[in-house]
Amino acid sequence: MTQTGRLSGRIALITGASRGIGAAIAQRYAAEGAHLVLTARTEGALEEIDDVVRAAGGTATLVSLDLRQLDQIDQLGAAIAERFGRLDVLVGNAGLLGDLTPVPHIAQRQWDQVMTVNVTANYRLIRSMDPLLRRSESGRAIFVSSGASKGKAFWGLYGATKAALNTLVLSYADEMENTPLRVNLVNPGPIRTAMRAQAMPGEDPMTLRTPEQITDCFVDLAAADCTRNGELVQAY
Ligand code: NDP
Repeated sequence: MTQTGRLSGRIALITGASRGIGAAIAQRYAAEGAHLVLTARTEGALEEIDDVVRAAGGTATLVSLDLRQLDQIDQLGAAIAERFGRLDVLVGNAGLLGDLTPVPHIAQRQWDQVMTVNVTANYRLIRSMDPLLRRSESGRAIFVSSGASKGKAFWGLYGATKAALNTLVLSYADEMENTPLRVNLVNPGPIRTAMRAQAMPGEDPMTLRTPEQITDCFVDLAAADCTRNGELVQAY
């Protein structure tokens, strides 16, 4: 792990930090000097990430949060405002795959859950964190998309959420063009995580990149010297 301190002193909120890509971003951001605000539902897993962060000399604030409880996102914004007065980096990473099934078979309950976590929660994060990101001299917002947004058999629900996320985030980025705030999306590609194993149970995970291998672009997009805005960045 490179320790260049590119995020030294920056406050970074990462959703879905309990495992997979979010956990790898958390560890890398800590190594780069950021103070982390880490959220997910699984407290035990967040505490394990916190142990790794502390062992590497980093600091984190853990927030147990179910993103489907949308009002709690506003409460998180209020808590960050009170404690830090600003937010330098928002990483909207948490996501839910849902069932891979033909479009006519999508259950309403699945639709609601996956839409809420993948789209509505990110809209609410933007709404709650925008004033805090603007208080930073160099606010950065990064959201995790997917190649499935292009439309593919059985991936309709998940893909539709990522297509909606893309449009939402690119619209926000365009609105921010004349401000110091930079807003981008990342498509990680196939990565060795629990979600990928759920999607592709027959695949050999050892053929896939690890979450740790794709953290460079998340550092680049979070750094104060990032000039990119409104881009869908391929992680490798
Ligand atoms: P994982 O399933 O490994 O991790 C998902 C994370 O999201 C977990 O930390 C989980 O935490 C959190 N999460 C899920 N539901 C909720 C909820 N209701 N409230 C709060 N947190 C929640 O997935 P990945 O690491 O693979 O995925 C991360 C992102 O990358 C997602 O947006 C995914 O769509 C995207 N992606 C992944 C790819 C891959 O190949 N892995 C490819 C393309 C995109 P907890 O369960 O503790 O709440």
